[in-house]
Amino acid sequence: MAVGLSTPAPLVGRLQTPSAASRTAAVIGAGWAGLAAAVGLTQAGLSVTVFEMAPVLGGRARTVVSARHRGDNGQHILIGAYRASLDLMRQVGVAPEEVLLRAPLSLQDAHGRGLRLTDGNAALAFARAVLGLRAWPLTERLALLSRCAAWAAMGFRCDPALSVERLCSGLSPALRTELLEPLCVAALNTPAHEASASVFLRVIRDALIGGPGCADLLLPRVPLGSLLPDAAAHWLESRGAQVIRRARVQALDRRDAGWAVDGRAFDTVVVACTASEAARLARPHAPDWASLADGLRHQSILTTYVQCDDARFRHHPMARLDSGPAQFAFDHGWLSGTPGMFAFVASAADSWMTNGLADAEAAVLAQAQALFRTCGAHGSPRVAHSVCERKATFACTTRLRRPPARIAHALWAAADYVAGPYPATLEGAVRNGVAAARAAAEPAADAP
Ligand SMILES: Cc1cc2nc3c(=O)[nH]c(=O)nc-3n(C[C@H](O)[C@H](O)[C@H](O)COP(=O)(O)OP(=O)(O)OC[C@H]3O[C@@H](n4cnc5c(N)ncnc54)[C@H](O)[C@@H]3O)c2cc1C
Repeated sequence: MAVGLSTPAPLVGRLQTPSAASRTAAVIGAGWAGLAAAVGLTQAGLSVTVFEMAPVLGGRARTVVSARHRGDNGQHILIGAYRASLDLMRQVGVAPEEVLLRAPLSLQDAHGRGLRLTDGNAALAFARAVLGLRAWPLTERLALLSRCAAWAAMGFRCDPALSVERLCSGLSPALRTELLEPLCVAALNTPAHEASASVFLRVIRDALIGGPGCADLLLPRVPLGSLLPDAAAHWLESRGAQVIRRARVQALDRRDAGWAVDGRAFDTVVVACTASEAARLARPHAPDWASLADGLRHQSILTTYVQCDDARFRHHPMARLDSGPAQFAFDHGWLSGTPGMFAFVASAADSWMTNGLADAEAAVLAQAQALFRTCGAHGSPRVAHSVCERKATFACTTRLRRPPARIAHALWAAADYVAGPYPATLEGAVRNGVAAARAAAEPAADAP
C-alpha cells in the first residue's frame, strides 16, 4: 500500500460547508458500497458513524482471519474500466498499481489457446485478436466482428427482455463457449440463458470503448482487506468518523426530520447492507422498496484453493477452463507469491452445490487433476480449502427490477443491487455508494 500520493479530487465533489459540518450521518454496512458512502460523506463534512455487523470490513470482498486460516472469501478481479473503485482506493491512500497486477484481457486456457488482447486501443486490440485467432474459421471471426459492430451501432443498448444467449444467437458454438459465455458468467455471475443482455452490453461497452486500459484485467496481489477496507477504515477514523464493528443494526425509526439507528439520532442514513437486511430495516417505512430488495434472486460462487507444488501457468495468471464446475483458475504463484496455489472459481455455481460442498469440491479437484496433468505437473493436487458464498451476487437476469437509491426522506440505499447500469460488482457497489453519499450530503435535493 502506498500512502502520500497527491490528493485526488473528492468523491462527492464538494468540500465541507457550514451546514454540513453540524450534520450527522449513519452508514449501515461496511462493504465497498458502505465504505465509499462513508468516505464521500466524510469528505462532504458530515460527522459519520459506520455500523458493521461483522468483525471485519469488506462485506462480500473481505479477508477472513481464523485460528486455522487467513484468506479471502473468494477470488476477485477488477477491470481497468472500474474507475470509481480505483479512485476510491487512491482516495484512501492505496496505490492500485502496487496492489493490482495489470494484464491485458485474456480468455486463454492454461496452454495459451484463445483470445488475448494486446496493449493499446481496446476495440482495435479486440478486432486484431479476433482476426488473428486461427482456431476459429474466418467466417466465424468475421461474423463475431460484424455482430460487435452492430452492437456498437446500437450504442451497446438493447431490449431489457433480451438474454445474453439470445443476443449471441447465430454465432458459432465455439465463439459462445470460448468467449461470450465465459465473459458473461465472469461479469454477471449469471448463466447466459437468463443473463441480461443490456447489462452485459454495458460492461462490454465500458471495457472496449471506455478509454486506454479499460479492458485490462486487474488482479489482486494482496489480500482483499488490503485492497480497500483496511485503508478506508484508517482514513475514516483518522478524520473523526466512527467505525463500529460487530454492530448489527436492529432497528431504524423515524426521529424528527431524520432517523434513529438503534436509538441513536442521525440527520441522514445510508443503508449499505445486504438486500435481505436492508429490506428488514426499510419495510416499516417503505414496504414497496423492501419488496423489491427482498425479491432479488441470488447466485452462488464457489472458490476452491488447490495446492499443486510443481504446477504453474506459463502464459497468464488467469486461465479459462473448458469443463466445469470452475470456469477460471488463477495462479497465486504469479499473483501473490504463493507458488503452487491456485484459485479455481465456479461462478453461477448453484447447480454444482445441490449435493453439498464436499461433492462440488471433489468435482473441482477432478478438474484440477486433469488440468495439471496436461500442464506437465507431477505433484498430486489437493484442496487447501473452499469458500462457497451462497448469496455471492444477485442474479442479473432479464427484466430485473432493482430497488432505487432513495428509500424515504433522508434515507438512501447504497449497495451493488441498487438500480444502476452495472451488475453485482465492486464497481457497481462503489458507484452506488458515491451516489448515495452525494444525495445524502445535499438535503435540499431531498425535500420531504
Ligand atoms: C466469491 C465472490 C466473488 C466475487 N467476484 C467478484 C469479482 O471478481 N469482481 C467484482 O467486481 N465483484 C465480485 N463479486 C461481487 C462483489 O464482491 C460485490 O458486488 C460487492 O462486494 C458488494 O458490495 P456491497 O457493499 O454492495 O455489499 P456487501 O459487501 O454485501 O456489504 C454489506 C455489508 O453490510 C453488513 N451488514 C448486513 N446487515 C447489517 C446490519 N443489519 N447492520 C450492520 N451491518 C450489516 C454486512 O456484514 C456487509 O459487510 C464477488 C462476490 C463474491 C461473494
